[in-house]
This record gives sequence, C-alpha cells and structure tokens, in this order.
Amino acid sequence: MTNIIKVNPEDVITIWRCVDPTCECELEESIAEVPADWYQDNGTPQCPCGNDMTYSETFVTIEA
Ligand SMILES: [Zn+2]
Repeated sequence: MTNIIKVNPEDVITIWRCVDPTCECELEESIAEVPADWYQDNGTPQCPCGNDMTYSETFVTIEA
C-alpha cells in the first residue's frame, strides 16, 4: 500500500551542488539548501563561481 502525504513546501529542502571540477569556492558556498517553492521565483541556484548548480537530493521535515 502506498500513502501520499501532502507536505508544506517549506518542509521540503532540496540540495543543489556545484559540480564544476574547476570550482574553487568554499564547500559551504558550493552547496545550496533551498525549499521546494524557491525554484519558481529564483530558478536554478547558482554557485558563487557563476555556474548553475546541479540538483542533488531532497529532504522532508516530518514532525515526530
Ligand atoms: Zn562553483
């Protein structure tokens, strides 16, 4: 059985990373954590080196 659960967009965090091998930015600058509804207003997150970041993974916050 599969359950589909509705969650708030701010509870969904997507992780984006700069995958340019020549990127010399600090690690924390080359990883973006943005909520699910961030993309519609801001587009693809950009690294300080100027490259578009690549989608990596998604986390959901669930209250215990
Ligand atoms: Zn970069």
